[in-house]
Amino acid sequence: MTQQEKLASLDRKENSHKRHQEPDPSKRGVQYLKPQPQQQQQQQQQQQQQQQHTINGSTTEDDIHAPISNLERRRSLALSLGQSDLWDITPRSGHSAIYAGTESLRNNYNTLMIGGTGQIKSEFTGQEMAIDGIPAIQKTNLAQVLLHRHKMCPVFLDNERASGHYEGYCKQVLWPLFHYMMWNEDVDESQYWDDYVSVNQTFARTIANNYEPGDIVWIQDYHLLLVPQMLRELKADALIGLFMHTPFPSSEMFRCLPHRREILNGMLGANLVGFQTYNYGRHFASNCTRILGYECSPSGIEAKNGTVTLGTYPIGIDVDRTRTSCHRPNVAPKVKAIRERYAGKHIIVGRDKLDPMKGLLQKLEAFEKFLYDYPEWQDKVVLIQVTSPGVIQAPKYEAKIAETVNRINTQFGSIEFTPVNHYHQHIDRDEFYALLTAADIGLVTPVCDGMNTTSFEYVVAQEDRHGPLILSEFTGTAHSMSASVIVNPWDYANVSSAINECLIMSDEEKSAKAKQLSSFINTHTATYWATTLVNNLVACPKGSFGRPSTKLDPQRLFIEYKNISKGLFFFDYDGTLTPIVDLPEDAKPSPQMKDALKQLCDGSSNTVWVVSGRDQKALEIWLGDDLPQLGLSAEHGCFTRFPGTTCWINNIDRIDMTWKDDVHEIFQYYTERTPGSFIEEKRGSLTWHYRKTDPESFGEFQAKECQNHLENAIVPKLPVEILIGKKNLEVRPIMINKGEAVKRAMSQATTTDFIFCAGDDRTDEDMFKALKKQVSRGGTLDKILFTVSVGPSHRKTLADWYVETSSDLVDILSGLKKMAS
Ligand SMILES: [Mg+2]
Repeated sequence: MTQQEKLASLDRKENSHKRHQEPDPSKRGVQYLKPQPQQQQQQQQQQQQQQQHTINGSTTEDDIHAPISNLERRRSLALSLGQSDLWDITPRSGHSAIYAGTESLRNNYNTLMIGGTGQIKSEFTGQEMAIDGIPAIQKTNLAQVLLHRHKMCPVFLDNERASGHYEGYCKQVLWPLFHYMMWNEDVDESQYWDDYVSVNQTFARTIANNYEPGDIVWIQDYHLLLVPQMLRELKADALIGLFMHTPFPSSEMFRCLPHRREILNGMLGANLVGFQTYNYGRHFASNCTRILGYECSPSGIEAKNGTVTLGTYPIGIDVDRTRTSCHRPNVAPKVKAIRERYAGKHIIVGRDKLDPMKGLLQKLEAFEKFLYDYPEWQDKVVLIQVTSPGVIQAPKYEAKIAETVNRINTQFGSIEFTPVNHYHQHIDRDEFYALLTAADIGLVTPVCDGMNTTSFEYVVAQEDRHGPLILSEFTGTAHSMSASVIVNPWDYANVSSAINECLIMSDEEKSAKAKQLSSFINTHTATYWATTLVNNLVACPKGSFGRPSTKLDPQRLFIEYKNISKGLFFFDYDGTLTPIVDLPEDAKPSPQMKDALKQLCDGSSNTVWVVSGRDQKALEIWLGDDLPQLGLSAEHGCFTRFPGTTCWINNIDRIDMTWKDDVHEIFQYYTERTPGSFIEEKRGSLTWHYRKTDPESFGEFQAKECQNHLENAIVPKLPVEILIGKKNLEVRPIMINKGEAVKRAMSQATTTDFIFCAGDDRTDEDMFKALKKQVSRGGTLDKILFTVSVGPSHRKTLADWYVETSSDLVDILSGLKKMAS
């Protein structure tokens, strides 16, 4: 899927590139777009020689003199990937890291790649064909060639939809947004949305059509963010991973997107979402909290349909292949040519795409400042910058770059020497590696970049020469490459001094830094990236997705209950035995409910527990005083009163509760700003209630902000967890929960053969989890277990059954005694 999708993207880019490269009168006046006269002459010679000497796609030594050649002539050399009577498939150069990673999976898995076909051209006209106009039989033929020869499955997208999806929503909305820029004011986000949805749907359906139980699905990047959820709806049990190759912005930025909820929910259909850096994952989690109100735990996002694991998997490159590429026969002569051309100069090399995120303008400004700040280096340092055309045309940006290049060259250049050599074009692989190898310094200065594999390739190309690398702190790579010289690309003085630092760096220091960088790159390869992600995906918790709970069938319960010898019951209180009310103090037990509990306790060998978040006093007054046989657990397991006793056991006296001060301060901040909200302090927890705020939506908004605040400021450093209750946020020690309370009760009731547990919110899931673990211990179910969620059928729960309301539950309990007798 990955590669094909990328192929499609690249093909479209290519089309766009070609448009860029066609002679454009408006660009002719731009000096930097033209090769220098000397180079032009060399290229002409080279082309002539090429015509004479190119045999079977190989180049001869004569075509190596120009440092940067004209790539157009090389296109015809592409080897064929596969043919049929109808089709001729040719490969594209592409994102080698992602290819290398996914290719490596073929060693251990049968893989199928699903992706768009990209541009399909007519052999006769050379023009792009409308996909709709291609007969079905020809599409089938192409699909067969791709499947049998390359294990690829093509997705046929009509040209208009594909363009709205890729050049539209992906490149004009998501790409800038994910790199901290708003989309252009003349772009209407909604105009491309339907195409984005439609293409994602087509992909989801194609995956589902090819899916077999047990398959692992790995979806790549921001082009397909809705696919995980769409596929989940079609294949509930599929194991789905999603990897983001771009950054993920903080919520201040991302929440501007009108379809933010759809995008997040789409992504949360995956079992695992991977990011290049820890920060991008943290931003994603923060967005899920702020926009969707989901809980984040150390293991991931507690989404509506299950836990979504988050992970950091910095991509690597295929080091061996890169090394081989650097030593191809054509590279060394090119390196020699470059070094001879700039003999006596220090060569700084930059290679980027024409995209404002890549920081080219900042790089040029910084280089200009360097020449001002360090005049001793004037005429001694040359910047060779190769910029491949971007997907979206940006004439103003191009003009500004041209202007800056001209300014620097006018100011610091001479007839013999041009300090900035800017090539706005594609270069081929040999030239690329020759440039990296010939460099004295690598200058990589994006203002925002998901990763930046050029910096990795530079390190491999410099294995012998040890040229230092200057790297923007805003690349994902910077987090792993501390031995590079890290700079802020916006701080021109910083970049300027970094260039000077690298120029005067001792050989020993260069060598030490190169060794350190090389060590990281050699271990964190593309194969390592892909293998780690897939292994983690396989290890994701299963069964939490798509498993519907069933409405509790009283007859089934009665039949099971009738034959038991000893029953054990656990009930939550609020929302389970009584309905949720506006004022907590109004949740008094109904006579019918108390009667039902009494019947369960009376004259039988049953043990009945109420496990609640309420404090001891409330539970005693409402239940314990009248029903002494009832076991009580207060404040989510902080205090326990065993059945038939009156004393409470304190389970938290040995737990450090000093965290309360920090949490109280945060709750206080939100209370002061949220009229109607209040803090409830219990001995084992702190709760912020917003059920009476006006308007209620403001309370919810503030709760998400508060939760996000706690998750960033408190949870990472203190042993507490946040529970999202109904109209409240509760913070409590991580070691105290209802699951532990249930375990304590079970230890006293070992002969039980029937367990019934009912609850309505997140805190009760700990009971379900603990019980399921206890009961299935040893791999067999040795007890009958009924776990029941009180609430709607779609609620995310570990419970096997549900009842809709607390009165439904009480009715069933009342009937138990009657039916069993
Ligand atoms: Mg409850």
